[in-house]
Amino acid sequence: MLSNLEQQPADALLALIKLHGEDPRADKIDLGVGVYRTGQGATPVFGAIKAAEQKLVDTQDSKSYLGPEGDMGFVHALMPYIFGQDDPAKGGRIEGMQTPGGTGAVRLTVALAKRAGVGRIIMGLPSWPNHAQILGDLAVELVSFKHAGTDGKVDMDALRAAISGGQSGDAIMLHGCCHNPTGIDYSNAQWDEIAALIAAKGLLPILDLAYQGLGAGLEEDAYGVRKVLDAVPEALIAYSCDKNFGMYRDRVGAIYVMAENSEVLGRVLTNGFALARAAWSMPPDHGGAAVRLILEDPGLTAMWLDELDTMRTRISQVRAKLAAAGQAGSIDLTPLGHQNGLFSVLPLSSEQIQTLRSDHGIYMAGSGRVNIAGLTAGNIDKFIADLAVVSG
Ligand code: PMP
Repeated sequence: MLSNLEQQPADALLALIKLHGEDPRADKIDLGVGVYRTGQGATPVFGAIKAAEQKLVDTQDSKSYLGPEGDMGFVHALMPYIFGQDDPAKGGRIEGMQTPGGTGAVRLTVALAKRAGVGRIIMGLPSWPNHAQILGDLAVELVSFKHAGTDGKVDMDALRAAISGGQSGDAIMLHGCCHNPTGIDYSNAQWDEIAALIAAKGLLPILDLAYQGLGAGLEEDAYGVRKVLDAVPEALIAYSCDKNFGMYRDRVGAIYVMAENSEVLGRVLTNGFALARAAWSMPPDHGGAAVRLILEDPGLTAMWLDELDTMRTRISQVRAKLAAAGQAGSIDLTPLGHQNGLFSVLPLSSEQIQTLRSDHGIYMAGSGRVNIAGLTAGNIDKFIADLAVVSG
């Protein structure tokens, strides 16, 4: 039977990590994989996480099973940050469960939506490639629209048309902030309009918040999610702590459900538990427990907020430097200054991307997506100069 399986392509980004690793050039630049890097090019464990992990080692007295919902202390501790200090559970209409990373959360939002009868999900492209893969794997139809124009701005007309073409039983997937891959986010005024349009059309919003705190700030980055939740009766939210706590490999995430009332909410969650049980039984505990220990301790919370702020500030400084460079050959870098988060897409051809890799040791995804945090004071000038040469 197994020989029936066809060869699948390697994950393009993971293949890129390997290629970069094998490149002997000392001045090579990795703009591929989506992790934060310091000005020295490192992706260190947060100090707050180290301290929480030590506390966990010292105090954890059992590794016995939890339930499919995971660590509910973790799930609840995050809620004020996502939904606001003022009634984060919206009078008992929001509850969550822990998931293996944001990926597990996205998968569960789509699986739950499908169980509820959703057959199509409206989503802007380009998007995080795994969104479409998850939809494909769960046999939910993707109805796509163009997220942004060549001017580096959100294509609001395309979004309006996609929403107005929505049918009963459709959901819409939106990035809460720091759009991956474009970095092109909705303004607050655009979120106001989007929330009203979604509510008027009766679409089920699925909001993916994987980078809270890496854009304009923790509160600012939650604007869209909160605005949509204020406008609609029900929604699904996928959350990742893997970037804003630097926990990538520890797989820390959560799904939140907002239902029209607590009775429906309870029923939705039992479906979430059943789906989780059949897929991964329960999420890995360690990372969620460490995040909970941070959020339960004001000193560690302050330390985490400070580290998050350092990340956010560095990303925006690199963006400002790129924007200030203006034109690099045929590439206008100025829009990168007002884009958000780790990523932006450069309008390069595949040949140009290939030449940057082979002739200049600059590694980026085949889509032209660059990880802004891969740029440092030591390599940014070379990057801009090489970009100018190649895009000439
Ligand atoms: N959603 C988006 C938009 C992402 O970019 C990512 C991570 N690249 C995720 C979800 C999943 O995050 P995690 O690593 O926590 O699975």
